[in-house]
Amino acid sequence: MSKKPRNFSSDPSRPSFLEELYQGRFRWDLIRDFPVQDAQDRAEGDRLVEQLNVLLRERIDPTAVDRDRQLPEGFLAELATRGYFRLQADRAVGGHELSHYNTFRVVVAAASWSTPVALSIAIENALGASAFLSVVPEGPLRELLRAHVARGGLSASADSEPQGAANQRRATTATRVETAEAYLLNGQKVFVGHAPVAELVSVSATIRDNGQERVQMFFVRTDSPGVTAGQWHEYMGIKGFPNGWLNFDNVLVPADQMFVERASEHQVRVTPETAKMVARGRLHLIAAPSLAIAKLCVQWARDFVLRREVDGRKLADYQEIQQQLAESLAQTFAIETMSQWCLLPDDQGRQINQRFEQNASKNVSSLLCWDVVDRTMSLLAAEGYETAHSKQQRGAPPVPVERFMRDARNLRISGGVDFQIDNWIARMSILSYYYPEPDHADELAKNEPVRGDFDGAVLTDRNLGHLRWVADEVHRFGATCLELARRNPDRASLQENERTLILLTGIARELLVMSLTLARASKMASTGDHSGQELADVYCVSAGHRIADLRRRLSANAPANVPSLNAAWLSGTTLDHLTYDAATGSRR
Ligand SMILES: Cc1cc2nc3c(=O)[nH]c(=O)nc-3n(C[C@H](O)[C@H](O)[C@H](O)COP(=O)(O)OP(=O)(O)OC[C@H]3O[C@@H](n4cnc5c(N)ncnc54)[C@H](O)[C@@H]3O)c2cc1C
Repeated sequence: MSKKPRNFSSDPSRPSFLEELYQGRFRWDLIRDFPVQDAQDRAEGDRLVEQLNVLLRERIDPTAVDRDRQLPEGFLAELATRGYFRLQADRAVGGHELSHYNTFRVVVAAASWSTPVALSIAIENALGASAFLSVVPEGPLRELLRAHVARGGLSASADSEPQGAANQRRATTATRVETAEAYLLNGQKVFVGHAPVAELVSVSATIRDNGQERVQMFFVRTDSPGVTAGQWHEYMGIKGFPNGWLNFDNVLVPADQMFVERASEHQVRVTPETAKMVARGRLHLIAAPSLAIAKLCVQWARDFVLRREVDGRKLADYQEIQQQLAESLAQTFAIETMSQWCLLPDDQGRQINQRFEQNASKNVSSLLCWDVVDRTMSLLAAEGYETAHSKQQRGAPPVPVERFMRDARNLRISGGVDFQIDNWIARMSILSYYYPEPDHADELAKNEPVRGDFDGAVLTDRNLGHLRWVADEVHRFGATCLELARRNPDRASLQENERTLILLTGIARELLVMSLTLARASKMASTGDHSGQELADVYCVSAGHRIADLRRRLSANAPANVPSLNAAWLSGTTLDHLTYDAATGSRR
């Protein structure tokens, strides 16, 4: 790889396992010493998790929160006072100085009781004022944030707009007022977590400087003249989580409340430092609730298959049920493995760049969680679909799969829709290694199986087989990307083929998670715990099938005429038979 970084996430001074994978290189040496939380840090996390568990069981009835669509009066203030919104901040401002992984564990614990509570803790620690303290340099803005955090103030991060969060441009504008050393902010933000309760909000806005536009982040007090906090958005799930819109109408913001960041030559969705913070923050916002829901589901599934009998035989004895439960267990293991890999190396000061994995973690965790909760819903059948309240009324175990399924669907949307995240990852990261061609292009083009170096792998024969297969497939992935780039010398034309990009990211994601589950199973086995072997094996078998399917789709050479079908439908003149008898409200 050339010394100049190919993309925004790359760091020439620190290797990255996923960055290497994107280039067709399988670097077992980077993951074989899979990180394990050290005992002291773990004990500290245990203490906070235990305290939170007690508080939640005393103060929160999660079914009532879901039903009434609100948290108990004063509960957010109580969380703030106890420091749950500044878990990583220093003690001088009332923080707990937690590691990244312990912060994640606190959110997992909260999410396994009440998703809205977990999201409140996550949003403050991932994107709130205390999170920005880690990236804002000394100066008036930092003082403002420190005072806010020390006071236990609530905050929000407002980026999405009614025009669509996927747009690179922000319609919200910040116009310099030279005479007042300030900016005038105008625009609207929507879907903002904690908007209805925040006193301080970070707002992304477009500035025009010397005829050029750039997006910058401003910190705005919500009691500033011209700020209006609208009503809450009501969602399918996460009921009780304060989320709403904000209007900015000629709001005067002091210039020193703009977060000044170094410019980046690479295109990113938000400003550079914020993008990095957001990448790690997604572990708290998305991966932690995903893991919590998966953990709950496998427990509910166990209870159900042990108590339910069909035709005199325990459900747990049926082959298909065993298959499904095994898949859920392996996927839960995979979400946890991915989360540990994304956070523990930073906590332990390892010189590894986790940025690529952190970006990938959103889809890894939310999609696997969705698989698990959806499978659990079918397994529990009518009892799965039935609300906890209804089950309680008739004396059935009031397992809230239905509530958590509604909550889980959000995880595939907030912070970016799943397929679009895959599209972006391929555009910004994967393709960057093939335009221009990499130095090792000739080696990739040979497309020969690699001789893997699997030093230190403590794996069963089956898992060693998976490991060799992954190494070959990673090389094949690089060869495929190279071939695509050679067939499409103009990068823009390949980027137009979004389905291809999404499939590429899907393959890379599957290979990544297979690699990590094997590395963790190996590390566990090296300390005498062999319980990871079967989990990794089950995960790898299924992931192998998914990769085969993704590859088949990637090489499909007779695609259906999708543009024609779309044109026909969008013209509104044909295919109307598809909506006959449906109350669509748009009958012509
Ligand atoms: C519960 C919840 C909490 C949230 N919290 C916050 C928050 O705290 N702060 C905040 O700023 N935002 C927040 N959001 C907003 C969230 O990040 C956005 O909803 C999300 O990024 C999707 O943006 P959008 O809804 O505007 O859809 P759009 O960006 O308008 O996208 C619409 C559709 O177009 C697709 N699409 C977009 N671009 C392309 C393309 N190039 N090719 C093909 N398809 C494309 C998308 O995948 C999507 O399906 C939250 C949302 C939810 C649901």
